[in-house]
Formats: sequence, structure tokens, C-alpha cells
Amino acid sequence: MKVLLLYPRYTETFWGFRHALKFIGKTAAYPPLGLLTVASMLPVNWEKKLLDMNVSALREQDLSWADYVFISAMAVQRESVREVLGKCQALGKKTVAGGPLFTMEPEEFPEVDHLVLGEAEVTLTEFLKDFAGGRCRRIYTSRVKPDLIHTPVPQWHLINFKDYASMSVQLSRGCPHHCDFCNITPLFGKHPRMKSAAQLVAELDSLYSKKWRGSVFIVDDNFIGNKAAVKHELLPALIAWMKERNYPFTFITEASINLADDETLLQLMRQAGFRNVFIGIETINEDGLKECRKLQNINRNLLASIRKIQSFGMQVSAGFIVGFDSDPPNIFDQVISFIQQSGIPTAMVGLLNAPQGTRLFERLKKENRLTVKFSGNNTDFFMNFIPKMDRRKLLEGYKKIVTTIYSPALYYERVLRFFQECGSVKGVDFPQMMTWGSIKAVLQVAVILGILEKGREHFWKFLLQILLKHPRRLPDALVFAVYGFHFRKIFASQPYNTAEYN
Ligand code: SF4
Repeated sequence: MKVLLLYPRYTETFWGFRHALKFIGKTAAYPPLGLLTVASMLPVNWEKKLLDMNVSALREQDLSWADYVFISAMAVQRESVREVLGKCQALGKKTVAGGPLFTMEPEEFPEVDHLVLGEAEVTLTEFLKDFAGGRCRRIYTSRVKPDLIHTPVPQWHLINFKDYASMSVQLSRGCPHHCDFCNITPLFGKHPRMKSAAQLVAELDSLYSKKWRGSVFIVDDNFIGNKAAVKHELLPALIAWMKERNYPFTFITEASINLADDETLLQLMRQAGFRNVFIGIETINEDGLKECRKLQNINRNLLASIRKIQSFGMQVSAGFIVGFDSDPPNIFDQVISFIQQSGIPTAMVGLLNAPQGTRLFERLKKENRLTVKFSGNNTDFFMNFIPKMDRRKLLEGYKKIVTTIYSPALYYERVLRFFQECGSVKGVDFPQMMTWGSIKAVLQVAVILGILEKGREHFWKFLLQILLKHPRRLPDALVFAVYGFHFRKIFASQPYNTAEYN
């Protein structure tokens, strides 16, 4: 049995970092963790190949080699999925598909031979049992939310580490909060399920033994969904593991804003090597927060919460959304001003969308406001429903936010503010985001951002400020400069045209 594990191409996205990766000679930001884990669940005697179409092109001979093609995808890969399924059909290849896109919209893919939906620990096991017995159904689905205690270590040997900027591991699934636009709770439930500390350490060991060093993304939707277990079991084990190996990794993760309320937790995360936390701020308008039921963000000083996290030496990246029914006409200026004051360099601002399966989707369906399918790309000037605010005004306001906050002057100002906020932190020194070994990248940065790009004078001013005030942060400053370049390119490349919404 020969299986091709296929990860379709995603469209150019904010988090894809395509325009930044070229500076460090990488092709993709993160590996396809789901497929690497699925590979470990398949019978050992099956021959497996993994093809990430974000790294290499799919050739006809890749498909011809396989008996079965296993596809995993998110909404943002929809277009490429269609193309891949067409090629499989033309060659008569059997397909097995799973992951968030197929789980949320199975009816959209009648051409797939076997839909293995929900969580693979349950449905893939069932599929494999039937496969062995020679009687497979077309759809495997289950409401069971499995314990992750038996989830295997991913088969890292199926990828080339050199292609990726960061590795990924997963600690937990599920989130205790109820934001109405989010499909995490419908997909994974509201009770966070965690791997044991020993499991996570085993996954890190496997990366370490394969000589990976640098960034590791803990891909949980809410790393602190089960705060007690993270604080008392996971982090102490992680700190010990990192210390013993002289801090080989830096961690990135996602968490809810109530992380700011627990200084012990923040201190432990810092000690464990967390350098970057993504927080869903969504909106600074309390009515909008109530509308989407983001209750953990209400009744708090959001700026103070962000500064608290930054003061522990962690970069806060954050998500913002415009397009809520309760957004006032001046929401765009409010968002710009908040982002500037916060010192959040990486602010992902998107238009509100309603993924299938969410409570927002159900509400808008009842109100007859849904229009097209959710694209899954957070920053593509696209909405899948009719907003309350005049759509043209909304798109113009959105365009104003993203062009303003990523203009070189304002972006570099935010990075400097962030360095200032976390500048006083004393403690363990972790590896820099980029090393001086990447001299080629430094020269490229200087040429592209300092000579060729419009607004280059801001780059040199920024560099001077860094040398004067934060010389030890110079490598990190260059990484931020490259990220800024990527974000400007991403927003400049969006094919939005407000005129068509008149
Ligand atoms: S806190 Fe984040 S992961 Fe949890 S429901 Fe809200 S948006 Fe989703």
C-alpha cells in the first residue's frame, strides 16, 4: 500500500510569511503537522510519502506512484483542494480527506472517496479497521472528543527541515470560551484536552534529536485553556527540559487575554522560552465584544493587559476584526490609535467572516445575510455576509487601517515601543530570533528595505534607534523589519476594489 500524504497550497496569507521567508532561504513557515501525525497512525508496513505543495509542486508522477492520496486542508486551501481532487479523479486515484475544511463542509466535496472527518484518533482508527476488512464507508464522522494521551509523535522524517522557518507541536485541543465567530469550539469542544507533559517532551525530544534548533510553534488555539495543568505540570517540565539542553528552542503560541491576570504563569512561560503570544483582541468597542460574546475581553483595560504580557519579555501579536453590527463609524481610527499605543508590531486586522458551523453563521443565516463561502484568508478584503455598515465605507475604513499601521513610519515606531516595554526585563537570555550566521539575510534586508523600498529613510532611522537604545536586539529588529515588509506586500497585493460595492 502506497500512500501520498498531500498538503494543498494555501493562498498568500498574512501568516504564510511568504515575502519574509525569502530573506532566510525558507519556503514555508510551518510544516503540515496534522498529516505528519496521521502518518504515525497509519499501518507501519504502508509506504508513505508527504508532499507539501507550499514547498514543492505536485507532479503527475507523485500521484501515479500512490495507491491512495490522503488530503488534509483548511478553508484557505480550498482552491488548491479542488485542483488536486480534479487531478486525482483524472488519474483514477482514490482519495481520503480530512481536516477542518472537509469537517465543516463535507457536502462541498462529493468527489472525495472517503471523508474521514473530525478527529483522526477516532475516525481514522475506524476507517483503518474497515479498510483492513475490505468494507469502507464513504463518511466517517463522530462527536467523540478523544483523549490526546495516545496521540503519536509526528513522523518528522517525512519532511525536509530546511524548508521550514519553524516547527510545530500541539499540546491541546478545545477552548473554554465562546466567541461566536470562531469554529474552534464547534470543532474541538469547550473542554480543553491536553497531552501529558511527558508526551510534549517526547515530541520536543524527537525534534531535538533531529537537530532542529530555533522556533517551535505550539499550535493550540488557547494554550492556557487548562491553566492549572499548564502551570503546575506542563511548564515546570518544559523549563527543566529547556534548561538541561541550554535552551535550544523558542516558543510561539496563542492564548486568551486572561493570561495577563496571572503573573506566576507569565513568569513560567518566560522561563520556558516563550517569546511570542498571539492574543485575540478582536475589537476595542465593548458593544462589539458583547455582540460576539468575547466575554474574557470585557471589563478590562486591554492596553494594560498587553503591556503586562510584554513586560515579561514576550511579544504580543494580536488579531483585530472590523465589521461587527455594533461598530461605530469611527471604529477605524480607534483601532489605528489602539494598535499604535499598544506596541503590537504584528497586528492582524481582518474583516468579520462567519465560518460554517459557528453561532455567527447560524444567526446570519436566520437573518438572510449570508452571501458566499468563507474564504479562510483573514486579510483578503472579503466578507461572506452583508454587513450592517455600508460595505463601501467598511472596506475603505479597513483599507485605511491596514495601510496606516503597516506604513514604515508607524510600523517601526511600534517595534521600538515593544522593545521599550520589554526592555527592562531581566532573566534568562534566550536565543535570538535570527543569528549573525545569516549574514546573507542581513545584506538582503539592507538592500531591499534600506535602498529599494519606498519609505527607506524610516528603516535607517529605525536602525539608528536600535543601535543607540537596544543594540542587543539588533537581530530581532531585523526580523521585525522583514515581517513589516511582508505585511506591506500582503496588503498591497489584495485585489480589493471598493467601487464594486457601490
Ligand atoms: S478564545 Fe480564541 S479559540 Fe477560544 S473561542 Fe474565542 S476566538 Fe476561539
